[in-house]
Amino acid sequence: MAGEYPQARPMHQSPDDLNGQFWEHCAQGKLCFQRCDDCGTWRHMPRYMCAQCGSDQWQWQVSSGKGRVFSWIITHQAMHPKFREETPYATLVVEMEEGVRFVSRPLGIGNDELALDMPVEVVFEPLGEELALPLFRRAR
Ligand SMILES: [Zn+2]
Repeated sequence: MAGEYPQARPMHQSPDDLNGQFWEHCAQGKLCFQRCDDCGTWRHMPRYMCAQCGSDQWQWQVSSGKGRVFSWIITHQAMHPKFREETPYATLVVEMEEGVRFVSRPLGIGNDELALDMPVEVVFEPLGEELALPLFRRAR
C-alpha cells in the first residue's frame, strides 16, 4: 500500500491568485493577512470579499506574527508516508493578535507541553527556494 504514495512531502499545488500571494509573502518571511479597507476587519483564509461588511476593497498587511494557542489536535495515524516518522504530531489553531485563526504546527514545543492560551510566535521553515512554512514556537 505504501508504494502507491509518492515518498516526497506533499506540496502546495496550483494555488489561485490570493493563495499564491499569501505563500509568496511566507517565502519572504512575512506572515500577511488581508485587511478590509472599509471596516478594518482582518481575514484569513484569503478571499475576495469581507465577510463582515461585504467590501471588496482590501490590502495585505503584515501580521505581528504573535498569537495564542486556541486549540490543537494530536495526529497518531499519518495520512501520508512522509509524515509517518513525525507521528504523533500536533496541529495547532493559533488565534493571532489580529483576531484571525490560523492552522499550523508547533516548532520546538512537545505535544505534552501544549496549553490553551500559550503565547506563540511565527517562525518560517524554508522548503526549497520558493516556499516557507509558517510554524509557531513559544513567544520570546
Ligand atoms: Zn469590511
